[in-house]
Amino acid sequence: MNILVAGFQHETNTFAPTVASYESFVRGEDFPGLVRGEAVFGLLNVNLPASGFINFVRAEGHGVTPVIWAGAGASAHVTTEAYERIAGEIVEAARTASFDAIYLDLHGAMVAQHLDDGEGELLARIRAVVGSGMKIVVSLDSHANVTQQILSLADGVVAYRTYPHIDMADAGRRAGELLLALMRAGRAAHLVARRVPFLIPVNSMSTMMQPARGVYDLLEELEPGVLSLSFAPGFPAADFAECGPVVWGYGFDEAATAQAVEALFSRVCAPEAQWAVRFDEPDAAVLHAMRIAQAASKPVIIADTQDNPGVGGDSNTTGMLRALLRHGAQGAAIGLICDPAAAAAAHRAGVGARIDIALGGCPQVAGDEPLCASFEVEALSDGKFVYGGPMMNGKASDLGLMAQLRIGGVRVAVSSAKAQLLDRNMYRTVGIEPADMKILVNKSSVHFRADFAPIAEEILVARAPGPFIADPAELPWKKLAPGMRLAPEGPAFEGR
Ligand SMILES: [Zn+2]
Repeated sequence: MNILVAGFQHETNTFAPTVASYESFVRGEDFPGLVRGEAVFGLLNVNLPASGFINFVRAEGHGVTPVIWAGAGASAHVTTEAYERIAGEIVEAARTASFDAIYLDLHGAMVAQHLDDGEGELLARIRAVVGSGMKIVVSLDSHANVTQQILSLADGVVAYRTYPHIDMADAGRRAGELLLALMRAGRAAHLVARRVPFLIPVNSMSTMMQPARGVYDLLEELEPGVLSLSFAPGFPAADFAECGPVVWGYGFDEAATAQAVEALFSRVCAPEAQWAVRFDEPDAAVLHAMRIAQAASKPVIIADTQDNPGVGGDSNTTGMLRALLRHGAQGAAIGLICDPAAAAAAHRAGVGARIDIALGGCPQVAGDEPLCASFEVEALSDGKFVYGGPMMNGKASDLGLMAQLRIGGVRVAVSSAKAQLLDRNMYRTVGIEPADMKILVNKSSVHFRADFAPIAEEILVARAPGPFIADPAELPWKKLAPGMRLAPEGPAFEGR
């Protein structure tokens, strides 16, 4: 077989301040930059679904025609231009290339400026040119809001099973296995899907903790009885009708498939309260961390979740930095604050100099503003480093000019491009050894746990003013399906 492969990933927080332009995909941001054709093979060593898929099907003796791999960091809507250019290239390849099956590496929570279901629309356009007989399999992020259109237009859809996402390549391999099983069978599998009636906060989706760990353990116990089983807890910041968690599965035995999906669905839904999250306000989080740090040998880590660029933040709010300073925290570090002007000023001044600047601040966030203060330049970096943690291991990164700025007992890792603080090397590149600190404030929700949990005394989740509202019940929803509960055991959305 020859398989057409394309990747197009974006997690859209429709409430976030900044859109994803075509240039965002060219840069890649949290992902590798956009590549086309044979250059996609340059990603085969990166932990990405397309890499896992390609390596697997090649080992099984099949060929691959790569079209494009394009991903951009989470943000507000994908611009119409970016969507049409990238989707257009994929559809054009599906129309003109010769191949026997299609694999798509998608996120599943893409909302474009002109359409709500980015992936469903892409599948509809591809189906329109390849017809109903062509096998199409898809892998999705576990933060996918899986729509009826996605499920009905693809022959097989699988999702990641870890958050932090350390199994991205593995999800691609599972999509490959599902495709080969469907091709061998020569017939379609039965699809059974159940929509979960409440939104789950991102912070409680971590598979390093319960209840998510137990849900995926059960999934893997049940899966041998069917062809494929998936659970996507969703991305609870995309305002459209089908936002929310979904459980689904495929099998040639319809009754067995329905039974497995039902068992997994029950485990997700009961009890609903298992998914509730405790958030600390910034002052409480800092005071709590300082208390624990007194007797701790390892750093206390605070997730500054509402400015996580992985869910649409711009990585520039100052609420947590202010709280650290307000309480005189010592041996603390915070990262990343994305502020190109501050990084440039630090590089102009040089190591050891003192600079008076207005650092960070997100103009679209009420209650946030730049921190006008005097900082000492402790270290400089060109922003080029390689990720060393389990999630993005080996990925080369370029965050532009970077600097370590010190104010009181707090070291600030400043970058010129936004990226989620999920890897210890992001601190090390500006001379901060994370394990040596008393308190670390990471602009991340969950991904940092993969590399930081091993060095953490304790992990707290703080809610400083930011563009990502961590409690979905607090978001100004407009298009969500009426009746959907806005949080575990939360109020139902009544429509607007
Ligand atoms: Zn995700």
